[in-house]
Amino acid sequence: MKPDEFRQHAHEVVDWIADYLEHADRYPVCSRSRPGDLLNALPDAAPEEGEPMSRILADFERDIMPGITHWNHPRFFAYFPANNSGPSILGEMLSAGLGVNAMLWQTSPAATELEQRMMSWLGQLIGLPDGFHGVIHDTASTATFCALVCARERTTNFAINHSGLTGAAERGALRVYASREAHSSVLKGARLAGFGADHVVAVDIDAQRRMDAADLERRVTADREAGFVPCAVVATVGTTGCTAIDPLTAIAPVARRHRLWLHVDAALAGTAAILPEMRWILDGVAGADSLVFNPHKWLLTNFDCSAFYVRDPDHLQRTMSIHPEYLKTTRDAEVVNYMDWGMQLGRRFRALKLWFVLRSYGAQQLREMVAGHLALARAFAALVEADPEWELLAPVPLNTVCFRWRPAGLVDADTLNERNAALMARVNLDGVIYLTHTKLDDTTTLRLSVGQRATGPEHVQQAWDALRAGARALSGKDADEDA
Ligand SMILES: *Cc1c(COP(=O)(O)O)cnc(C)c1O
Repeated sequence: MKPDEFRQHAHEVVDWIADYLEHADRYPVCSRSRPGDLLNALPDAAPEEGEPMSRILADFERDIMPGITHWNHPRFFAYFPANNSGPSILGEMLSAGLGVNAMLWQTSPAATELEQRMMSWLGQLIGLPDGFHGVIHDTASTATFCALVCARERTTNFAINHSGLTGAAERGALRVYASREAHSSVLKGARLAGFGADHVVAVDIDAQRRMDAADLERRVTADREAGFVPCAVVATVGTTGCTAIDPLTAIAPVARRHRLWLHVDAALAGTAAILPEMRWILDGVAGADSLVFNPHKWLLTNFDCSAFYVRDPDHLQRTMSIHPEYLKTTRDAEVVNYMDWGMQLGRRFRALKLWFVLRSYGAQQLREMVAGHLALARAFAALVEADPEWELLAPVPLNTVCFRWRPAGLVDADTLNERNAALMARVNLDGVIYLTHTKLDDTTTLRLSVGQRATGPEHVQQAWDALRAGARALSGKDADEDA
């Protein structure tokens, strides 16, 4: 592509993105694609001859857009947020334009040093105590996996890195502790890091679904007596189901006493700690060995950008680094080479978009956005609480409301589960809002998660209206069937 052609199409694409950012609400939130729709529309093989960009862009509109679920739609309330913003997109464009690989300091000194500084800025914003050092990973799943590998090597004094999982069979099995509300990435990480699913121990939770530190203590002690080797505990600050906040102040002393690696998974909720009034969610984090949170969820930085912090970067590097001759440089003693801080060799220049976001908005506007989302979640919770046909199913410490429809006179648990599943399917198909569910114990629970850039009070009200209209329509259908 000649520079002039690039310029022309780049302008078209930027115009398209600007329109999209302004009008994402014109689309149904959740894609209505059926399985195979796009696959069947695409040729079986790549074209032999190049095609004009005008045709590619037209096909993007025609074939790709119907298969898009609009994560940045103001009425996207599903899962957790994955918001973006103008400044972030601009930083991402420049990063793509530069096309650099941030594996070594030398392969782009600015990419490494900007990442160092951004991790320090972010750590200060969420109130991390001094002594944590950060690196950007793609996802929280990767960070948690790295934390578990670090834990494994600390407990075994690098025996597994050297001799492998089978080389040290005389040792008791290493164990990882987490509550059953922990994210699936903990189980996945533990499996891939060689702990095995059987050695991920579910710690009891209290009535608010927070980890019970006394139960952690009991299980670790019992496991030691039984010949296991307790190795790591993953505490979740803001669980995926209902944003429960495991008490780090109670968990950290247990971890210290038993020499467990304490990893804090604050993937979603870490962002809330930029608010002084929410700092308490990380109380006790000084006792952690590592923490992850995702600016790509709730901090206006488009996917992917996950901030991983460790107390002991030397240990992380000793666990991860391997230095083939071709990657050695004369400056290795003076600089950070982020390839030694994780699984990947090649790394994207993600700090750039973060720099654009943090400078363009400033901490104050970011705090206002997060505070606004928290207020919207509380407002929605108040609507639910005030209506006798609806009920809250969990406290609302953050941006996520767990609730269900409870029509008068209906008490049977299975029927309530079915009704709520039917209601969710109905409103999502309608396209006005998109929300998803979880199970809290055996209760089908609707979740409304607020966190998109443009979500305001009117959108939350529309969600409430859509849910009640859906419920009325379902009740009407029942009445017709009864009659
Ligand atoms: C979203 C989330 C994850 C997974 O994040 P990825 O970056 O997609 O791997 C893990 N833990 C918690 C608590 C989350 O909210």
